[in-house]
Amino acid sequence: MIQLIRGFKDILPGEVELWQWIEQCAAGLLEDFGFSQIRIPIMEKTELFARSIGEDTDIVEKEMYTFADRKGQLLTLRPEATASIVRAYIQHKLYATDPVRRLYTIGPMFRRERPQKGRYRQFYQIDAEIFGVAEPYVDAELIVILATLCDRLGVSDITAKVNSLGCPECRPAFRQALTAFLDRVAGDLCGDCLRRRRRNPLRVLDCKVPGCRQAVAGAPSLADSLCDDCRRHFDTVCDLLAGRGIAFQADKNLVRGLDYYTRTAFELQTGALGAQSAVAGGGRYDGLVKALGGPQVPAIGFAIGFDRLAEIVARVRKPPLAGPKVFIAALGTRARDLAFQWHLDLALAGITSAMEHGQKSLKSQMKRADRLDAAFVLIVGDSELESGRLILRNMETKEQEEIELDRVTQSLVRKLK
Ligand code: AMP
Repeated sequence: MIQLIRGFKDILPGEVELWQWIEQCAAGLLEDFGFSQIRIPIMEKTELFARSIGEDTDIVEKEMYTFADRKGQLLTLRPEATASIVRAYIQHKLYATDPVRRLYTIGPMFRRERPQKGRYRQFYQIDAEIFGVAEPYVDAELIVILATLCDRLGVSDITAKVNSLGCPECRPAFRQALTAFLDRVAGDLCGDCLRRRRRNPLRVLDCKVPGCRQAVAGAPSLADSLCDDCRRHFDTVCDLLAGRGIAFQADKNLVRGLDYYTRTAFELQTGALGAQSAVAGGGRYDGLVKALGGPQVPAIGFAIGFDRLAEIVARVRKPPLAGPKVFIAALGTRARDLAFQWHLDLALAGITSAMEHGQKSLKSQMKRADRLDAAFVLIVGDSELESGRLILRNMETKEQEEIELDRVTQSLVRKLK
């Protein structure tokens, strides 16, 4: 038997209803905040990700699904959505009439990470981006949106962590101080960090290897080297969050694994998922639109890990019932032919319906209706056909009532719609 690819997964009926509900909550909330949906391809030219996410990041160095197509062009299955949305923003000149745009997308991403609980090679993200606003209000707004979504989904035990990564003004001095520090603790760093420490020292702060975490515990803090503008920006974000009563922590070691971030970086973490604690992450990327060939437009965004969110939500909420409204139990060929027409008419009228297409006893049909969790069963056999009156049974209350043979669809639509 051919199994699915390691690190990939099926989302089965029963689970899907929960995903749909989460998706509706997220999309509804984002639309209330003025976001429009954008749909981007799942494949892009490799250089888009290499240039935006950064050559020295885990994603670009070792996690991308990249291949040469038949003409030898390097293509990559998207590991995240921001780069593609920025590409689309530039390519279609979405800034032309008004640079301010709020865009969101929901879909699969691909990273060849080591699979484990909460970490997949195809996973889903809900991604939102705001272009054209440099002010800290929108940084706070995005975090309020994330906190609100968790709240509406019944997810508690969430902490927002916030940091500032500085800007091209203040980051170079910090980089220098950090590099000097990393030279001193070089003996304790892992191979990746040793290699990266010159080209991208900030990434060392983000390394998950325990030895590295210990080694950087005493590293200089970015928070201490922010320029006045970055400091003011960060303080305002914190004040706005506190003013709305959002629980958050300033975390100086939060750097996030992508290169394009400037100023505000944030993550929503939970204790509910063991090692994979980040449910969502995001940050400001004021230089990316320009770096990818567009105008100087500031931007900020977040990505929610849909799979992880769904895993938490599944613990606190039962998926909504997915059973049919009506199950038609028919006995005999003539009854079955009629049942088939009613089944089609009911479904077309928006009443979920199911029936037994083969020849089965009433007992076995009632069993099946039970298993499907049908709300009502319509029973039709020879005697019902003769009397012209069918039985409709409420499966929860066990009450029965009669339905006229020649008005089945109308009666059921009136009663159940
Ligand atoms: P990132 O794009 O790395 O900032 O990730 C944003 C969110 O996506 C994370 O907080 C996770 O919840 C989720 N995520 C990232 N990688 C994976 C993965 N391999 N499997 C499942 N979820 C992931």
